Amino acid sequence: MDFGNLVRRLRKERSLTLKQVEELTGISFSQLGKIERGVHKPSQDTMDKLNQFFKIYEFIGDEIKGNYLKYESPINAITRVEVFVRDAFLCQMCGGKKPEKSLNVYHITPIELGGSSAEENLITLCNDCFSGRQEFIKKYGIDQDPLKQI
Ligand SMILES: [Zn+2]
Repeated sequence: MDFGNLVRRLRKERSLTLKQVEELTGISFSQLGKIERGVHKPSQDTMDKLNQFFKIYEFIGDEIKGNYLKYESPINAITRVEVFVRDAFLCQMCGGKKPEKSLNVYHITPIELGGSSAEENLITLCNDCFSGRQEFIKKYGIDQDPLKQI
């Protein structure tokens, strides 16, 4: 499920049409339609409006809310959501999930080593596995990256 489908699902759960959401949020129905079809990535302002109405930050988690609002990251905010959804909100090393584990999206190949911020180079990990991985790589080198042994 991608971000657009998430928005569509939240809208359908409330049995609302795009036009009704437009009236309630001020986001035009054509823009909403594009967001739902995944052809338009919402701006910060639109994300905030979606949040006010759908409580979308609550739904997708504190990490994303925090990252979207504060974290100046090379990872696009929507890509981050898509990685969380793709990885089913589970740490891809230990299978940990919220609220026991604090999850975030990390680069598989770090940017410093030429890794991109595209979805295929991103992964959901808990903080414990991330720190563990960092230490392991520091000690044994990136060739021994535990992620590549999975
Ligand atoms: Zn983990």
